[in-house]
Amino acid sequence: KSFEEMGVPKNLTEILHQMGIEKPSKIQGVSIPYILDGRNVIGQSQSGTGKTISFCIGILDKCSPEKHFPQAICVAPTRELARQISEILIIFATEMNLKVFNGIKGIKYQEMGNINQQIIVGTPGTILFLIKNKFNSQNIRICVLDEADIMFDKQGHFQEVQQIRQYLSRETQILLFSATYREDIKEFVQNSIPNPVQIFL
Ligand code: AMP
Repeated sequence: KSFEEMGVPKNLTEILHQMGIEKPSKIQGVSIPYILDGRNVIGQSQSGTGKTISFCIGILDKCSPEKHFPQAICVAPTRELARQISEILIIFATEMNLKVFNGIKGIKYQEMGNINQQIIVGTPGTILFLIKNKFNSQNIRICVLDEADIMFDKQGHFQEVQQIRQYLSRETQILLFSATYREDIKEFVQNSIPNPVQIFL
């Protein structure tokens, strides 16, 4: 199926075509219909398979430009990955009149007001701080956990991601991507992600 046939909005498929992306990769073909259907998705896939576009499409689908508060969060293991994800998101988001906030550790958030961007990207500690202080987590409709295996390797990140999950509503859609499906990921999925679709490529 093409992106259009899977229900990706036309203005987004046009941007994909401009990027030279004509037809869905394997993970995109399998995951996007479930993501747009609102299902929780566990995707086992390496980087380079096109998972970023899959979850970006899910994020954009859940956000309303008329609402000026966060509705989607994307958690990444490193600042560099968070920056790369926000750069891609910004290209699509701008087309949908949505704004992206890239949370960076060390910024003096205390002096800043609440966040009014619809999409937030960042590393676990920063996202947790922002959830506690700068926006209402009950409005988050989708949460992406990218490269969960790398994330859980870092001291403290597993606990931070668990805490982030606890702040979110039970109804929040969760997409988790990981190159491996080892015990700690399995445990997190069993305890924190109800009835997921599991995609192994
Ligand atoms: P990712 O796995 O999300 O890190 O994506 C890796 C690379 O694949 C990026 O440079 C994308 O632009 C590219 N890419 C993503 N989806 C497709 C696709 N359907 N066809 C061709 N290239 C793609």
